[in-house]
Amino acid sequence: MREIIFATGNKDKMREIREIMADTDMNIRSMKEAGISVDIVEDGKTFEENAKIKARAVAAHTDAIVLADDSGLEIDALGKEPGVYSARYMGEDTSYDIKNQNLIERLKGVPKEERTARFVCAIAAVLPDGREFVTRQTMEGYIGWEPEGENGFGYDPIFYLDEYGCSSAALSPEQKNAISHRGKALRSMKEILLKEVTIQNPLE
Ligand code: IMP
Repeated sequence: MREIIFATGNKDKMREIREIMADTDMNIRSMKEAGISVDIVEDGKTFEENAKIKARAVAAHTDAIVLADDSGLEIDALGKEPGVYSARYMGEDTSYDIKNQNLIERLKGVPKEERTARFVCAIAAVLPDGREFVTRQTMEGYIGWEPEGENGFGYDPIFYLDEYGCSSAALSPEQKNAISHRGKALRSMKEILLKEVTIQNPLE
């Protein structure tokens, strides 16, 4: 069985990657489960750079395959803000109720066709032989006029999807994982790993 360490402390992300890799012989461990603790300064200018910074920092402590992700929200009318600063926007300790209200305020008077936005997720992999791979996927939508929905987290309540006629916080976790930036980026990384590393896929 091959081992992957996913450089995150987030339980939801761990559950999602385990579900996606469940039909391979990969054993997925969190940094904590692998006993690795590193302070990582995410000072990249792109999602891809930040994902690579995290994966490389953890790879320095293990011979396993390391995966790391970076994600955020880009709002076109705000010059792609908050972008790579999504978690830090208005300060890490500011609640998402306040952050979301602030973004709605800043878009006052902006018509629907100019409220386009996307969630972006980059996943980086560092292999034991030093090779690196990065995937990037998006979920396209627009910023609504008021928050809606009880599921999800972060900016989900103000991010609306035309196809569903609701915010991503109103989708079930299964619906969201099927179309989300992170779900899609993880599934493309799985394809790369299945090709580049000798992983058995028992269902094939
Ligand atoms: P990180 O990738 O864990 O550093 O998180 C980036 C930040 O982007 C999160 O704290 C959220 O603010 C935002 N974000 C990323 N993905 C989502 C999502 O699926 N829904 C809502 N907010 C998200």
